[in-house]
Amino acid sequence: MSDDASEQDGRKPLTKLAQAGRKPEWTGMPGQPGAIVSPPVWRASTILYDDVAHLRKAAGSSTHERLFYGRKGTPTAWSLADALTEMEPGAEGTMLYPSGVAAIACALMAVLKPGDRLLMVDSAYDPTRNFCTQLLDNYGIETIYYDPTAVSLDVYLEGGPIRALFLESPGSLTFEVQDVPALTAWAKANGIVTLLDNTWATPLYFPALSHGVDISILACTKYIVGHSDVMMGSVTATPDWFAKIRQTAYVFGQMVSPDDAWLASRGLRTLGLRLQQHQDSAIAIAQWLKDQPDVARVLHPALPDCPGHALWQRDFSGSTGLFTFVLNGGDDTARAALIDGLAHFGIGYSWGGFESLALPVDPARYRSATQWSAQGPAIRLHIGLEDPADLIADIAAGLARFRAVRDGG
Ligand SMILES: *Cc1c(COP(=O)(O)O)cnc(C)c1O
Repeated sequence: MSDDASEQDGRKPLTKLAQAGRKPEWTGMPGQPGAIVSPPVWRASTILYDDVAHLRKAAGSSTHERLFYGRKGTPTAWSLADALTEMEPGAEGTMLYPSGVAAIACALMAVLKPGDRLLMVDSAYDPTRNFCTQLLDNYGIETIYYDPTAVSLDVYLEGGPIRALFLESPGSLTFEVQDVPALTAWAKANGIVTLLDNTWATPLYFPALSHGVDISILACTKYIVGHSDVMMGSVTATPDWFAKIRQTAYVFGQMVSPDDAWLASRGLRTLGLRLQQHQDSAIAIAQWLKDQPDVARVLHPALPDCPGHALWQRDFSGSTGLFTFVLNGGDDTARAALIDGLAHFGIGYSWGGFESLALPVDPARYRSATQWSAQGPAIRLHIGLEDPADLIADIAAGLARFRAVRDGG
């Protein structure tokens, strides 16, 4: 839980990143002077009590951030959850999950019930769509997809009440920026709860609750962990919604291992530095790509021709390392020739680590309310912490391979 003092004290986000989640009771010994810097790994399943009375007292009281049983966590996970809460002004608390997808699933289960209708952004992360079709459908919950660039959603109210509005900004693969303040204001006026997948920007570059969102979701697997070695998700919510989010996480038995929480906390301390470098290098490479004749389009919110660029400029305080570019002509084989020979980019799913990645993407497959059309195949890049000059030389050689296949037939 955030304490009121830390929300009101005006500390800047980078200061919070260094200080958050380090409560004295998690870093020191009762009655002894001195404290360690970072809360250690508290591994536990069983918690032992002095007597039956204490056992019953622990079971009867609220167990949030109280030792009760390993499934409810230990100070290692609470420290990470508290730190994420501190990064989101207006938040009541944060729950942790074993993956980003688990966080999305549990957040949706917390707000929806049979008969409800859900508005889902058409540029949502593909597994989010899968959860709607493979699980919500079976529970009689209808998912309606909407255009990420829509400015009014009034038309959807004609079909009956809407329970929840799910946003992801910028969108997965295609990076459309949504008008989050306008959409959340519309939702509030219509009694609709809003959830946002904030994985790309993190609360550092987009404090979601301050922009009207009720429930903010992160795949911590990406930038919070930052080193491609832990899976984790988080849900941070307003005072109106946190109790429901927590109760749902408890009934589903969601928890994270203390070792993973500790690694994520370690990642969080350097989030500011890492994102700054991801941002600078990604913009340099995106701008270089934009000038290449073999590149038709670069989808990066910080570049003026990305849909929603003006909204990004208005609402976000930074951009990160993930964007897509569209090739000029060519087919899947020509695209593979570019990617396969890259020396400094790994080929693989996920992103947010220190290493650069290249992935062939085909957004048309994951659309239903909107159309995706492009001049050629697309590649999503995650720009890591390598020297951008090396990365540019690598992509330049890749574009030559692409050209050879495209033009050579
Ligand atoms: C990766 C990702 C997720 C899911 O996170 P996992 O930890 O891989 O389950 C959710 N949303 C977005 C936008 C992602 O990129």
